[in-house]
Amino acid sequence: MLVDGHGRRVRYLRLSVTGRCNLQCRYCLPPARGPAGSAGSCLSDEAILRVCRLLASEGVEKIRVTGGEPLLRPGVLELIRSLSSIPGVRNIGLTTNGVLLGDHASDLAAAGIRRINVSLDSLKEDRFAAITRGGALGKILDGIAAADEAGLRPVKLNCVVMRGVNDDEVTKLASLTLRRAWQVRFIELMPIGPAAGSWKRLFVSSAEVRDKIAELGPLVPVNPGNAAARPVYRLPDGKGSISFVSPVTEPFCMSCDRLRLMSNGELRPCLCTDASADLGSLMASGASDSELLEAVRGVLADKPLCGTAELARPRETVMAAIGG
Ligand code: SAM
Repeated sequence: MLVDGHGRRVRYLRLSVTGRCNLQCRYCLPPARGPAGSAGSCLSDEAILRVCRLLASEGVEKIRVTGGEPLLRPGVLELIRSLSSIPGVRNIGLTTNGVLLGDHASDLAAAGIRRINVSLDSLKEDRFAAITRGGALGKILDGIAAADEAGLRPVKLNCVVMRGVNDDEVTKLASLTLRRAWQVRFIELMPIGPAAGSWKRLFVSSAEVRDKIAELGPLVPVNPGNAAARPVYRLPDGKGSISFVSPVTEPFCMSCDRLRLMSNGELRPCLCTDASADLGSLMASGASDSELLEAVRGVLADKPLCGTAELARPRETVMAAIGG
């Protein structure tokens, strides 16, 4: 069993399978990374599976595959199939920008993906292209439709709300849930990577987003009584649902059960700290499973009680490298 230094049990792995991305969202990636981002050194499938088996044997039961853009990793479907067959792993999700989703949705479902999150910050073509530095909105919408058809339900749409960028689209995005059984998740911008410099100007709280949505009607709780789960709401007569991810104003650190394995082999205890163990180098130098586990426990001892409090410190890491 994996328990951090504050007594929280770890059951969830965020697995970044590549540092590359085929979009370059302005708040996520600095322009200098080039159009496809940087591949850097990347763990092999065997190394990833070894770490995942080890963590699963210690109680990790959920894995979310992310990146960079995870669908850019060669052989990602085979990797997901192998992850699904690890004893103890009960739930595998994927976070994607959706560019390649239209081509892969049914294969992803067949490979074992159960939960899918697609990033969608605007429903306006020009604006979407501006935020993502060239992304084609139509392609993403086709990908979302393909995921829905493939039975990856509910498709969750991640929308980072930014003042003066897309905050005027909150009601339009929330209205998607009137017609579609999707979940729109409004996310607070975190001061990480390129967002750090402009964060004060761009930040919009979940409370403000909620107020805007009130124009459409009262938000009805869908899962009242489930204190362990993030609250989910529905608009009156809505087919889908709405939720809020509020790492800044309502940090959920106290119940955090996550570890993060980066594609370069670093294991991190938290999105908000650069503390890590280099599992990649350890494996390359022939470390045994018990040595790897010792390194994992060392990282867990460094897991901050509240990551949000760490965000004030300047740091190099971008979200696409840690796996947002
Ligand atoms: N390429 C995939 C995608 O676009 O979903 C996965 C990686 S991306 C880093 C994962 C998520 O992190 C996206 O939903 C993105 O909007 C979010 N993200 C990136 N930078 C962020 C920031 N500073 N604050 C909040 N969310 C951020």
